[in-house]
Amino acid sequence: MPNVQEHYHFLHDIPELGFQEFKTSAYIASQLAQAGIPLTQGVNNTTGIVAEIDSGVPGPVLALRADMDALGHVIDGVACARHTCGHDAHSAVVLSAAQQLMQEGAIKKGRLKLLFQPAEELGTGALAMLEGGALADVEMILGFHLRPQEECRLGQATPAVLYSACSTLEATIKGVPAHAARPHQGVNALDAAVQAVQAVNALHLAPGLSWSVKATRFLCDAGVTNSVPDEARVVWDLRSQENAPMATLKQKVTQAIQHSVAALGAHAEVVVLKEMPAADIHEDATALIRAAIVDVLGEEGLLSARTTPGSEDFFFYPVQLPQLKAGFWGLGCDLLPGLHHPDMRFDRRALEQGVHIFKAAVVRMLG
Ligand SMILES: [Zn+2]
Ligand SMILES: [Zn+2]
Repeated sequence: MPNVQEHYHFLHDIPELGFQEFKTSAYIASQLAQAGIPLTQGVNNTTGIVAEIDSGVPGPVLALRADMDALGHVIDGVACARHTCGHDAHSAVVLSAAQQLMQEGAIKKGRLKLLFQPAEELGTGALAMLEGGALADVEMILGFHLRPQEECRLGQATPAVLYSACSTLEATIKGVPAHAARPHQGVNALDAAVQAVQAVNALHLAPGLSWSVKATRFLCDAGVTNSVPDEARVVWDLRSQENAPMATLKQKVTQAIQHSVAALGAHAEVVVLKEMPAADIHEDATALIRAAIVDVLGEEGLLSARTTPGSEDFFFYPVQLPQLKAGFWGLGCDLLPGLHHPDMRFDRRALEQGVHIFKAAVVRMLG
C-alpha cells in the first residue's frame, strides 16, 4: 500500500478543477478498494466518494472529510489547474489514515465514514454531497486544512479554525440609453452604479461585529463613448465572522443598491453568485481533536483556536444538518508564501502528523 507521501505525490501531479476530479477520484477509489474499504462513487452524479469502515458493533458514526479539487491559475500566460490550497494533501492524509485504520482493525465500535468531496473552491461541493445524502446517519464530522506559516508552524496544530462567512453579490443595473448630447432623455447606468458603490460604502453594522463589504468588479461599456450607457454590472464581496450578521449585511447591501439607483431612475437586480457560511464548530468535536493533537504533537504542539477571514464550504454540513457535531482543525506545515499562491509550498513532514492526528481522534471515539 502506498504511504501518505506517495499518495500526495500522485495526487499533486494530477490537479483537476471542481467537479472534474475524475483521475483524482478514480485513484482514491482504487486505493480504498485495495484496502478492502467498501465505497460508493459518483455521489449525486459528481466525482464525490463516500466510503465506510463498519466495526459491526453498534456505536457512534464519525466522518472524516477531505476535499479533492485544485485551483485554476494562469501561469506564464497559460491557464492550468494547480494544487495551491493543499486539497491534494487533505485527500492523501484522510486516505492514508483510512487505509491504516482498516489494516490495523482499529475500529472496534460504530462506523467510520470517509468523505472525499469535489469542488470546495467553487463553494458547491459540500452541498452536492449533502444533496446526495452522504451524511444522513453521521453524528460527528471532522475536517482539516493546511495552515499558512504565520498562523501555525510545523509541529503545531490548532483544534479549531474559525472561518468567516462570505457572500458574493452581483447587481445588474439598468438605465435608459440616450445620445450623449441629450442625456436628459436617458438614465445613465454608470452614474447609478457609482451611486450604488457609494451607498454600500456608507453602510454600518454594530461596531462590535467583525465584517467587511467592498465592490470588487465594475463593468460598464456601451460600446461607444458618445451615448449614455444603459447597463452596468457591479460585484461586491461581503464577509462576516459569524452567520447572523451576514443575513443583515446582505439585506442592507441589497437595499442600498436598489434604493440608490432608484433615486436616479435606474433599476437594479441583485443576485447571489457564491456564498459560504461561517464556522459552526461543536465543543465536543474540538475537544476530541484537541486530545488527538496532544496525543501526537504533545502539549507544546497544541495552539489555541485560530480566526481566519477565509471561508470553507465544509460548514454547509453543520449549517444544513444542525444535529451534526462538526470539528475543523488546522495543521501547521510551514506553508509559504500563502494559500492560493501559485508557488505555494509546505513541509511535507506534516503529512504523517496529519495522518496520526486523524487516527488518534478516530481511535478515541471508535477504538
Ligand atoms: Zn482554497
Ligand atoms: Zn482549501
